Amino acid sequence: MSDNKTGKQATDHTYRGRFAPSPTGPLHFGSLIAAVASYLEAAAAGGEWLVRIEDIDPTREQPGAATAILRSLEAHGFEFDSPLFQSTRLAEYDEIIAKLSAKDAAYSCSCSRKELRATATHGVTGPIYPGTCRLGAATESRPAISVRARTNNKLVEFTDGLQGTLSCCPETEIGDFLVRRGDGLVAYQLAVVVDDHHQNISHIVRGTDLLEPTFMQLCLQRLLRFPEPRYMHFPIATAADGSKLSKQTGAPPLDDSRASENLLAALQFLQQDLSNIDKSLKSNDILKIASKGWDAGMLKGVRRLRIGV
Ligand code: GLU
Repeated sequence: MSDNKTGKQATDHTYRGRFAPSPTGPLHFGSLIAAVASYLEAAAAGGEWLVRIEDIDPTREQPGAATAILRSLEAHGFEFDSPLFQSTRLAEYDEIIAKLSAKDAAYSCSCSRKELRATATHGVTGPIYPGTCRLGAATESRPAISVRARTNNKLVEFTDGLQGTLSCCPETEIGDFLVRRGDGLVAYQLAVVVDDHHQNISHIVRGTDLLEPTFMQLCLQRLLRFPEPRYMHFPIATAADGSKLSKQTGAPPLDDSRASENLLAALQFLQQDLSNIDKSLKSNDILKIASKGWDAGMLKGVRRLRIGV
């Protein structure tokens, strides 16, 4: 992805970014923004950009969505090698969960969702687990149904490329969190950390809907002694009523035949200067030009942004 012909960008072999969609439906404008932002950050740094399909939750997946996402990315001019499918990595996740459990950094939990609804208080990333099974509450009458990572009270802090320095106390503000869910599926937090490490990802660029979950990912990186990647969280796109643009809120799939228009709209949302981009260019050329002028500075501190403003 590096463009050395211009002489402007130094190739940064230490930059490895990624776009990691879940195949819950086709690409929509909100996910295009995440793809464009991560791609242009990587391109501007002369780095690499990988695509990873996060297909670990069959209950949320839509048949054909992974293929549709990849086709759509190609239609929009993104260049990438064969993607990694998380469904091929289940044995590795099992191994890591076993490793965490063996050193007591994770433990089995027999609490049902219903029980937790009744007791849990709200924290930074959702309900705080009250710690019922921390000392080994799983018994024959209460079999283990999930696995939780053990948190401690050491402050977790990171400096986000756009959102500044954030910190929290994992034990009191997050609580022990799931690495294997009650339905047996591996939790997103675990899989994302294992694969960002496996793929040597140095920079994670994504939407602010994943800003707080970063704390859980940092906890796991510490437990596993993985190096911490750098983070940059872009504002998420919201509809006029302030709700996040997503499949659930009815965001329409992207029309691949209007790839250039879609890209220009995404660049406009990301506050890029479009004045030197010829609107009739093909999508790949739009991305190339946009990478040269790429500047995320206008989005500092912005967590949500309405589309079409
Ligand atoms: N798979 C996640 C999603 O589609 C994104 C994961 C990430 O970027 O860390 O929301």
